Amino acid sequence: MKKALICGISGQDGAYLAQLLLNQGYSVCGTSRDAQISSFQNLLHLGIRDQVKLESMALTDFRSVLQVLTKIQPDEIYNLAGQSSVGLSFGQPVETLESIATGTLNLLEAVRFLGAPIKVYNAGSSECFGDTGETAADETTPFRPRSPYAVAKATAFWEVANYREAYGLFACSGILFNHESPLRPERFVTQKIIAGVCRIAQGSTENVYLGNMQIQRDWGWAPEYVEAMYLMLQQEQPDDYVIATGESSSLEDFVAAAFASVDLDWRKHVVIDSSLLRPTDLAVGRGNPAKAKNKLGWQAKYKTKDVVQMMVQARLAKS
Ligand code: NDP
Repeated sequence: MKKALICGISGQDGAYLAQLLLNQGYSVCGTSRDAQISSFQNLLHLGIRDQVKLESMALTDFRSVLQVLTKIQPDEIYNLAGQSSVGLSFGQPVETLESIATGTLNLLEAVRFLGAPIKVYNAGSSECFGDTGETAADETTPFRPRSPYAVAKATAFWEVANYREAYGLFACSGILFNHESPLRPERFVTQKIIAGVCRIAQGSTENVYLGNMQIQRDWGWAPEYVEAMYLMLQQEQPDDYVIATGESSSLEDFVAAAFASVDLDWRKHVVIDSSLLRPTDLAVGRGNPAKAKNKLGWQAKYKTKDVVQMMVQARLAKS
């Protein structure tokens, strides 16, 4: 039985990945900064809380990383942990950089130190590309990060590439575009919109406050994005892959689709709030997932409009 260690198992992707790996017959261990106090709501939601082993691990603390790796002896490590909000990274730049860049470096160093043939997946981000404009970014597109989060993710990406090249580690970065699900917290704009839409559909008189609605993003479906992570570690050679649906939509399109799904006109319920604008933001995020299709056989089945429908349905079913 293969053993997988998921760092950041309490998050959206961690929960879906745990479910996928359990279905593949893996023994799954997951880490949280403090496994004693984390409620692991997402694992409970998926009904798999009792099927995974949980450990406390602070990625920024090398001793902590080494202890967990020595105890668990995983075949595969998926590093999904770290401060994951672009917006919050402007207010917590040091925490963001340390949790992502130092955290990834500690993990790579621990794997190198142990000398065991452990495969490593690292959660990269399309934010590294910065504004892509109309040309879809692929694995050869230069990084132009425009937030502390993106700077941290770009650093971690090059750490992974360097350890692969210098020490022969089987380490991969997935450069994932945005992916959503009912497990997304409301801090993220997609779930904030869905939650507001559903409450308004059920009689609330509130408005949904948004910043720049003209930004374009590629929003995919998280449960199928974790399949790409798994596939990367099943290849003969380690490599980096862009994971995206290949179609971008504006935030306004997302909002309009969400309100339309409950027969409401978004113009009556959305207020633009300039305090929500970021110091720097990306106008367009566009991705080219051709390499993932050719080499991994992975392709997104769900596009943004499907994601909106599935999130609205899940939210309405819950309330
Ligand atoms: P989540 O925020 O849902 O989960 C990340 C986990 O990391 C949390 O559960 C938390 O675990 C841990 N964490 C949070 N803040 C910190 C911190 N400051 N220091 C250390 N650990 C922290 O993220 P997702 O599941 O959505 O994403 C998984 C990974 O993929 C993240 O690295 C994210 O940046 C990246 N990514 C996500 C995208 C998306 O659209 N979802 C797109 C591209 C990349 P705990 O509190 O239990 O310690």
